[in-house]
Amino acid sequence: CGIVGYVGAQSALDVVIAGLKRLEYRGYDSAGVAVLADGGLAAAKKAGKLLNLEKELTDRPLPSGSTGIGHTRWATHGGPTDANAHPHLDNAGRVAVVHNGIIENFAALRAELAERGHDLASETDTEVVAHLLAEEFSSCGELPEAMRLVCRRLHGAFTLVAVHADEPDVVVGARRNSPLVVGVGDGEAFLASDVAAFIAHTRSAIELGQDQVVELRRDGATVTDFDGAPADVRTYHVDWDL
Ligand code: GLU
Repeated sequence: CGIVGYVGAQSALDVVIAGLKRLEYRGYDSAGVAVLADGGLAAAKKAGKLLNLEKELTDRPLPSGSTGIGHTRWATHGGPTDANAHPHLDNAGRVAVVHNGIIENFAALRAELAERGHDLASETDTEVVAHLLAEEFSSCGELPEAMRLVCRRLHGAFTLVAVHADEPDVVVGARRNSPLVVGVGDGEAFLASDVAAFIAHTRSAIELGQDQVVELRRDGATVTDFDGAPADVRTYHVDWDL
């Protein structure tokens, strides 16, 4: 339902939670975050309100890092439980993904992954993406390319945002039939399903086009189509009031 991603000099967790609060008005049943820190990936997720997640983060704090993603979920596949909340991780716990929309061919992909020895921990359509990203990453060695390869195999509507512990300064996003906007700051960058998540930080935005992948770094964004061809990027100014 709501997606936020961040890379920059601030605490990613603080920026992501504040962004998710800005998107709360859309309604949701669970929330979660993942942060890259100390060469690893740490995640927390809870059914219910953001307050539940914040309590979890107080009881079991995550290490602080400057790259992170977050999600508020509106369940379509699998009930609103902690296990089904996003982010979803691969079995090695190196990649985390959040998703808005529906992956229509998830059942076939799940069966295929199970056959290759993956353990799936949730009932969601989303989780297959984390496992597929981990597989593609291990052969191509970079997250944006892994995301393009995975997207070409997905049917349905999706906004996907992912991080990998081996690429600690990168957040990758992709979209088809579901919105995704980039916020370009000074030495920091944002990804969100809605500009409301980041306009407290920057008014400079890039709207992702259909079937595009974005590689987000502190110094900006690189956009391609699902085949890797560079896409034209047009930055616009968000001029509506908070
Ligand atoms: N289909 C996904 C799920 O049920 C994403 C739902 C959403 O858009 O929040 O977990």
